[in-house]
Amino acid sequence: MSKTLQAVRGMNDILPDDAETWEHFEDIVRDWLKSYGYRPIRMPIVEPTPLFKRAIGEVTDIVEKEMYSFEDALNGEQLTLRPEGTASCVRAAIQHNLVAGGGPQRLYYHGPMFRHERPQKGRYRQFHQIGVEALGFSGPDVDAEHIIMCARLWEELGLEDVALELNSLGSAAERAQHRAALIAYLEEHKAQLDEDGQRRLYSNPLRILDTKNPALQELVDGAPRLADYLGEDSRAHFEAVQVLLKDAGIPFRINHRLVRGLDYYNRTVFEWVTTRLGAQGTVCAGGRYDGLVEQLGGKPTPAAGFAMGVERLLALWQECGGGGEPAAPDAYVVHLGESARRLAFRAAEALRTHGFAVLLHCGEGSFKSQMKKADASGAAVALVIGEDEAAAGEIGLKPLRGPGGQQRVSLESLSEAMAAILYPEEEEDGGV
Ligand code: ATP
Ligand code: MG
Repeated sequence: MSKTLQAVRGMNDILPDDAETWEHFEDIVRDWLKSYGYRPIRMPIVEPTPLFKRAIGEVTDIVEKEMYSFEDALNGEQLTLRPEGTASCVRAAIQHNLVAGGGPQRLYYHGPMFRHERPQKGRYRQFHQIGVEALGFSGPDVDAEHIIMCARLWEELGLEDVALELNSLGSAAERAQHRAALIAYLEEHKAQLDEDGQRRLYSNPLRILDTKNPALQELVDGAPRLADYLGEDSRAHFEAVQVLLKDAGIPFRINHRLVRGLDYYNRTVFEWVTTRLGAQGTVCAGGRYDGLVEQLGGKPTPAAGFAMGVERLLALWQECGGGGEPAAPDAYVVHLGESARRLAFRAAEALRTHGFAVLLHCGEGSFKSQMKKADASGAAVALVIGEDEAAAGEIGLKPLRGPGGQQRVSLESLSEAMAAILYPEEEEDGGV
């Protein structure tokens, strides 16, 4: 016998019980995004590798070691499974002239991302993000909008213990000045740096501040702060974001070491972090990336965005009691005999026409075993069709959860009778 095949390590099946929770979550997210005027965009999952090298930066964790890259066997093109969505979204916006042709854009997307990381709780090789991008907006207002909209989503989901961390990365020129000071400081402590740190000392020293190595925490805590190198404009921008957050009643902590793992950020950067999920506590992260559109070949266009880690958010949602029960049908149709089966199909379709969710028993089975299945399905009502009912052209209705006894109704009055059982209050009010 051959060995059973397994999913690729770090890539998860999402089975029906969980997938229903995902859909419920996605419904909430879609409504929330619409309420802020964001519109959907869908990009391919595979992109040319140079896109990510240029956008994310050569000397970053993602590009150095996490990308699933391969050569197209037919034409030799270098391709990569997208590790994140911003680069693709910006590429699409440039390619289709979205901003130049249509003005500023509020966009969102969701879907799988791929990173070759060590799989652990909250860290997978295929994971999912909901990404939000605002292209063509330069002010602190849109930065604040992004953070405020996140806070609203956490509220709607009933999430607890999600804290906001904020920083400003200033402009490229300001970062260059800080970089010189940072290199000088790190050179003094070169021996203490780990391998990644040594390697990035001159290529990307800012990234060292982002290290997850506990042994380096003290060293990076004492490093020169970018905040001390911000010019007047960057400072004013950052101040304005903070004023809007305070107006919205959103508490935050300035984290001077928050630099984000991707090179394209400038000015405002933020992370939403929870203590409830262990080491993988960042559920959402983003910021401003004014240089990226131009860097990828578009006209200079200010921009800002963020991405939520769906697996981590769902874990937190469930921790906080969210997610809800598996969906149950309104009715389960039990039937016995050839003519009963034909009536069962007509009854089920009639109910679906009126918007009810109906599970029709398929296959064999005695009345008793079918009733057991009806009960287990969680349906509110069993439709019972035996030979008697079939001969009379009628359908038995048996409430499985609430009060009320079994009754028989014609096909024509079926949906009305169902509604009376499912929504008794509305019936009393005289409405439907
Ligand atoms: P981390 O510091 O945890 O590696 P990151 O800075 O690499 O995160 P981003 O690129 O900012 O993450 O992605 C945004 C969000 O996507 C993260 O905050 C996280 O919630 C989620 N995320 C990133 N990588 C993974 C992964 N491998 N598995 C699950 N979720 C992830
Ligand atoms: Mg990472």
